[in-house]
Amino acid sequence: MRKIALHWQILIALCLAVLTGLVLEPDVTVLGISFLSILIFFGTLFLNALKMLIVPLVISSIITGMMSLNGDTLGRLGSKTILYYASTSLVAILIGLFFVNLLQPGIVDGEPARHVIGLSAETDEVVSKVGGKGASDIAEVLLRMVPPNIVTAAANGQMLGLIFFSLIFGFFVSKLKGSPAQVHKDFWQGLLDIMMMMTELVMKFAPIGVYALVTKVILISGVDAFEPLALFFVTVLLALAAHLLIFLPAILRYLARVSPKKHFKAMLPALLTAFSTSSSSATLPITMDCVENRAGVSNQVSGFTLPLGATINMDGTALYECVAAMFIAQAYGLTLDVTTQFTIVLVALLTSIGVAGIPSASLVAITIILAAIGLPLEAIGLILVVDRVLDMCRTSVNVFSDSCAAVTIARLEGEETKVV
Ligand code: ASP
Repeated sequence: MRKIALHWQILIALCLAVLTGLVLEPDVTVLGISFLSILIFFGTLFLNALKMLIVPLVISSIITGMMSLNGDTLGRLGSKTILYYASTSLVAILIGLFFVNLLQPGIVDGEPARHVIGLSAETDEVVSKVGGKGASDIAEVLLRMVPPNIVTAAANGQMLGLIFFSLIFGFFVSKLKGSPAQVHKDFWQGLLDIMMMMTELVMKFAPIGVYALVTKVILISGVDAFEPLALFFVTVLLALAAHLLIFLPAILRYLARVSPKKHFKAMLPALLTAFSTSSSSATLPITMDCVENRAGVSNQVSGFTLPLGATINMDGTALYECVAAMFIAQAYGLTLDVTTQFTIVLVALLTSIGVAGIPSASLVAITIILAAIGLPLEAIGLILVVDRVLDMCRTSVNVFSDSCAAVTIARLEGEETKVV
């Protein structure tokens, strides 16, 4: 029998998950065991397997990428990557700003929607959900880049510190001479090859993981909860869709000169994993596998751009932060003059860099924006209900933008990337 391609398997799992989630009740049992707890078990197992790969994969891929670069190439690659990340995030925010001004989800019948929507959570609950994810102002981002203890940083999933350390380490590996140089090069290349093989193994279980994670979300949140926030929901989806289906494909076509359709197909396993895990960091192993093995980008470029992108390039998140802050401001009846909107754009851009690639991380950034424009923190309770599903969508956009960066920069560096 012909084997079904992995992305089809994941897509089928996703459809089955939506069906099961809509048909079943949350308290259904299988042989006396709660179905929800079975889903949580398999979902967590898949997430753990992905997270288990992150530290060795990030370290080995950055070091392997760096050790073959010389000073000039590094500077060029670095500046192109940063420029790409900053400009695509800015465009994403402006797309969000356009849609939120056009559709005005925070205004109902000409009145601020505050009372119509009603707060969905108590302030304490909101604060406890937001707390512990770490504030992300610029000074803090810089401090996290240089962790006092690299082992603790790795253990706590502080990617920025790990990336910074690996970049410098890889740079000095390239300066080694003689036999230590060869030993290091063989070791790091071998480690990377092993990690890629382990990633392929974990990917085989993606359909089960996706099914468990998505069914769980639908069973828990239900569909009714979305009704009062439907317009906000639609605004975010439309803006994300415009970025994902118009702007990023234009970059692929005109800058990277690859077929957007083929690139989407190559990235499908990563996009669907991002969708079900809501975490760019957890998806990173699969993103790297797709970009290297399915989109044909060299490890030199992908090892540099992707780990960095999973941490600092979040187009979907930046867009969401802007729409959410504007929505809350509209719902509270705040006058949104140009200065306020400019503040929102700027803070959304800066905080999207500092946000971690984990579920619901945007909530922290939104509190920073709300504080910057003088709105109460409790307002975030308004969007908590729909946050999870929107998180799934914006994480897919985050991951897709990273993959476009890898392909575009590879092309600008003269690589003949071809979608396999
Ligand atoms: N979940 C997102 C990510 O991992 C971050 C966020 O917007 O909350 O990319």
